[in-house]
Amino acid sequence: MSAMLSSLTNSRLGAYVPQVAVSRYGSKPVYVPCVPFRKCTSAVPVPVKTVQEGNSVRLMPAAAAPAGAAADPHWKQAFAELDKPKAERKVMIAQVAPAVRVAISESFGLAPGATTPGQLAESLRCLGFDMVFDTLYGADLTIMEEGTELLSRLQAQLEAHPHSEEPLPMFTSCCPGWIALLEKSYPELIPYVSSCKSPQMMLGAMVKTYLAEKKGISPSDISMVSIMPCVRKQGEADRDWFCSGGAGVRDVDHVITTAELGNILKERNINLPELPEGGWDEPLGSGSGAGVVFGTTGGVMEAALRTAYELVTQQPLPRLNLSEVRGMDGIKETEIKMVPPPGSKFAELVAARAAAKAMDEAAASAGAIKWDGGSNFTADDGAKGITLRVAVANGLGNAKKLLTKMQTGECKYDFVEIMACPSGCVGGGGQPRSTDKQVAVKRQQALYDLDERATIRRSHENPAVQKAYEDFLGEPNSHKAHDLLHTHYVPGGVDTE
Ligand code: SF4
Repeated sequence: MSAMLSSLTNSRLGAYVPQVAVSRYGSKPVYVPCVPFRKCTSAVPVPVKTVQEGNSVRLMPAAAAPAGAAADPHWKQAFAELDKPKAERKVMIAQVAPAVRVAISESFGLAPGATTPGQLAESLRCLGFDMVFDTLYGADLTIMEEGTELLSRLQAQLEAHPHSEEPLPMFTSCCPGWIALLEKSYPELIPYVSSCKSPQMMLGAMVKTYLAEKKGISPSDISMVSIMPCVRKQGEADRDWFCSGGAGVRDVDHVITTAELGNILKERNINLPELPEGGWDEPLGSGSGAGVVFGTTGGVMEAALRTAYELVTQQPLPRLNLSEVRGMDGIKETEIKMVPPPGSKFAELVAARAAAKAMDEAAASAGAIKWDGGSNFTADDGAKGITLRVAVANGLGNAKKLLTKMQTGECKYDFVEIMACPSGCVGGGGQPRSTDKQVAVKRQQALYDLDERATIRRSHENPAVQKAYEDFLGEPNSHKAHDLLHTHYVPGGVDTE
């Protein structure tokens, strides 16, 4: 196990510094810590305005104020820049989400997954992009940060001093549709949601900082264009504080959907199915099989468990295909038993926890969803282990059902994945339209096939991600990682569209 991997479990143990509160009211700029609920305290100004809506007041960034005439759609803005003479334009960089690669073939009348990721990368070069990166890299980075965060929250519970800003269960955070629901309808659950940015935004931040530094390019001279299956990703990218490369320098400048890209390729006579295999550019172009399955329901959970299991047990997860969280069921659940090795930090904590019940009272005051600490620490044949209970919901109706059950105490979990679209990103609103009722199942299977064929199937084994931590980020959940790769949420929501 690499030195970096073994350092993960100890990387977030610093002293907790109370957050700076975010006010929902008032017309003055408010200040939030760069990562609320975390030890990092450097404050970032977020200019906001308040808007009266019926009986409620909501907070929105000043930049989201109505701007008069409607702007061009983002694909048009991206191509207005891309089509300029190379000497007069910015460095054009594309990133491609996992679910795009298995659906773009449909724009050419072919079955899901019939063209390859390499052909897709090549098509973007044909359009004129200078560099083409893979959002899989961002997905692997997300797992490094989110897995570490999950174990940190678990550790706080095991140590019997959970604090209300980092309770369990932890919810995933990579779907802007789910985050919109959270902020508008379940603001009391904000502390339960991972502070990790989505893979798209993590990669954007790394391009405007790490890559810019490595290549000696000013971040303001880079235009980052995301190819996404999602109509909500532009709104996510437009959040005011996603400017890691400097004030006014967006981490992601434009978002183009899968269907829009298909149309553009056809209009420009770029026949994707006939293109040769192209490669992704380094240093942000390689991703694992775990990153691939992010594109469908259950994938983030599966990817996270592949890494979290190894972090706790110091053994690889014996079975990489977690069929319990695969498939199209609206709500899926399972348990995973993790036995930390004798002498490890987690083994000590589990042993101490098994004998102590004090944390139950502390957990009971943690928030709206009560974590039932204690019942999931079991002893088998004398070996103390952690049984992590997980759930996965796809589609907002299923998400609401699951949340209601959790809030009434009907079911209890430690880690929950929520994706807004039925079937996850493979069924995103930006994907090509299809009359095939089984299209989402076929796209999902195509992702599973890509994962199966991947040389590296665990996020923490991605050498490019390991190198970024060594050279630039330090360790997962470090101060720098928090600055660049984590975010916060706004009760009431943020209008960016
Ligand atoms: S599930 Fe839907 S809304 Fe959520 S990130 Fe995927 S495509 Fe976007």
